Amino acid sequence: MVVSQAIERSKLQLPILKVRPGAVVEAVFGEVGPIWFGVHWIGNRQVLCGATQTQDCPLCGLTAGRVIGMTLVGCRLQGASRAFLLEVSPLAFSSLESRCRFSGLNLCDGVLCEVSRPRARGCLRIEPREAVGLGEQWLDAERRLVGGWAVLYGLPLPTLEETFTQFQERVASVIQARARVAEARPST
Ligand SMILES: [Zn+2]
Repeated sequence: MVVSQAIERSKLQLPILKVRPGAVVEAVFGEVGPIWFGVHWIGNRQVLCGATQTQDCPLCGLTAGRVIGMTLVGCRLQGASRAFLLEVSPLAFSSLESRCRFSGLNLCDGVLCEVSRPRARGCLRIEPREAVGLGEQWLDAERRLVGGWAVLYGLPLPTLEETFTQFQERVASVIQARARVAEARPST
């Protein structure tokens, strides 16, 4: 059981696309996600915000949270297209959406974009170029995104049967419990 869980986790794990200041990376965006979630920096680590529609987060009283989005992109690496997770801010993603609308592009057609970070610690700039279509690796993109995100944050894995909302409801108690631990021991 433990072994099969570890295998399942390693299958769902995705690399994170890092964009250094000054670099320009080409990536294909599809209409998947982003998953939006809150984080707090406690001590030197990032802890997921436990706030839900019905529950408050113990960390929101201690420190301001930040909303980040996680999406799935495809990048060419040694000739092959590979899936990566990409962290986006609400501002970067809404700018991408308006740039797409302005250029008559639709993310569901698979849009090749140039991704750059104009300033260190600044938000990404995502400039749509052209529709390139989505390969078959995108068939299961939503599930891969949710799975990759769950592995990244050490959360229980999504099951094939549940919707994203059901998954979120299921892991909310895990996130809440971790937030309570971080509140009690902020420096560990
Ligand atoms: Zn919070």
